[in-house]
Amino acid sequence: MTMPLMKPRRKNPVLRTPQMNLPPWARGRTALGMTAAAAEGRFELQVCERCAAVQYPPRDACHRCLSAQLAWRAQSGAGELLSETVLHHSNDPFYRERLPWRLGLVRLDAGPTVIVHLHGDVESPMALQGDSDIGSSISPQVNGSAAARGAEKAAQPQPPVRVHVGARLDRAGAAVLIGFPPEESEHMADDKMLREMASDPRFRKILVTDGKTAVGQALVQALVRAGAEIVWVGHAEPWKKLPGLADISALAPVTLVPLDLSNGRSVAELAGEIGGKVDIVVNNAEVHRAFGIAARRGTDAAHAEMDINYFGLLRLAQELGPALRARSADGVAHAAAWVNVLSVYALSNYPPHGTFSASKAAAHSLAQCLRAEMRASGIRVINVFPGPIDDEWNQNLPPPKVAPAALASAIVKALKEGIEDVYPGDVAQEWLERWRENPKVLERELSAGG
Ligand SMILES: [Zn+2]
Repeated sequence: MTMPLMKPRRKNPVLRTPQMNLPPWARGRTALGMTAAAAEGRFELQVCERCAAVQYPPRDACHRCLSAQLAWRAQSGAGELLSETVLHHSNDPFYRERLPWRLGLVRLDAGPTVIVHLHGDVESPMALQGDSDIGSSISPQVNGSAAARGAEKAAQPQPPVRVHVGARLDRAGAAVLIGFPPEESEHMADDKMLREMASDPRFRKILVTDGKTAVGQALVQALVRAGAEIVWVGHAEPWKKLPGLADISALAPVTLVPLDLSNGRSVAELAGEIGGKVDIVVNNAEVHRAFGIAARRGTDAAHAEMDINYFGLLRLAQELGPALRARSADGVAHAAAWVNVLSVYALSNYPPHGTFSASKAAAHSLAQCLRAEMRASGIRVINVFPGPIDDEWNQNLPPPKVAPAALASAIVKALKEGIEDVYPGDVAQEWLERWRENPKVLERELSAGG
């Protein structure tokens, strides 16, 4: 059973912060299909469209019939652990610093046999196997005695160890397979190997950039519930007293900090104060006005949107990015993740909210750049694409809308499970599907009102 993680001790400031060594991350183009699915929290393997064979590792042709018609399909992950081994030595710097490391060989019910990182709560088949080996070595030497009956009992085949295989992104952002116990246990997320793959908020110090919105407040509450040690909550106008803000500032881990993303000096001052401590940044600050091009003269509203949604992210990334990167291997509560609350309108412009869509598309592009730059140090950049949120700027839109609390739990889940792209809510899921099917058709449908 996994032991619950204890609060990490304060770091000795004299000691040098270890540098991050990434696990091997090179993957071929075909194998990246697995990474794309894992980025959204799914375990997918190639399935042959001609003979239905499921295959692993990914290849360009079916291993059974050589057909090139292979489709990525979600897998249940149910399987049987055939054997396990514990690494006590590795030439790879990432694993060398994290030994011992448990690996297993799993035969999936779907067919292929895969090598997995093994969760500590999965039973060891070796222990069971050991018992039956003793039994079989005794049995030929004794005949008909009680001892032989006992030995026969011991020699009975043990039930196979069932595991549930899931795909996760490792610290290098590449998909790896993990063998989980079939049933969840209480402190499962505290497993050493699993914590390496995810960015669990527990015992981490987190910055939420805007606490005045309903989403910001829901986020703070969800992060505190998930065990965050400190949550710094930005508010651009500290002289304003807002009721929701008073509620969250009463929570023990919460500290309000002045932060105005449209002001470079404000961002730099905050980075100077907390830059060396922050482990997770959640950038939820946004300006949202419901205008297209024709509905409003001038560029002031569009300018304000761009200044927070795009330049705000850029200022924040320039000031806090280097500090996060430097601490990505800093003990059990190392710097871990950067979350951007974008919008599903970043994929395709929604004309009634046209300038907002454009600013989120720009932010999405910049977030991809941030992800590429952060990858070398193992910091995960999580992009969140909610559909319309149930707030004042979407009051004229019909339901379904994403409730702020639902958006907050989707973000905490993504942190815990190491998911990279999140599309919370029915609208975002549906838009994503339509966008993947044909972006041009979606554009035409949205121009006609959705
Ligand atoms: Zn085939």
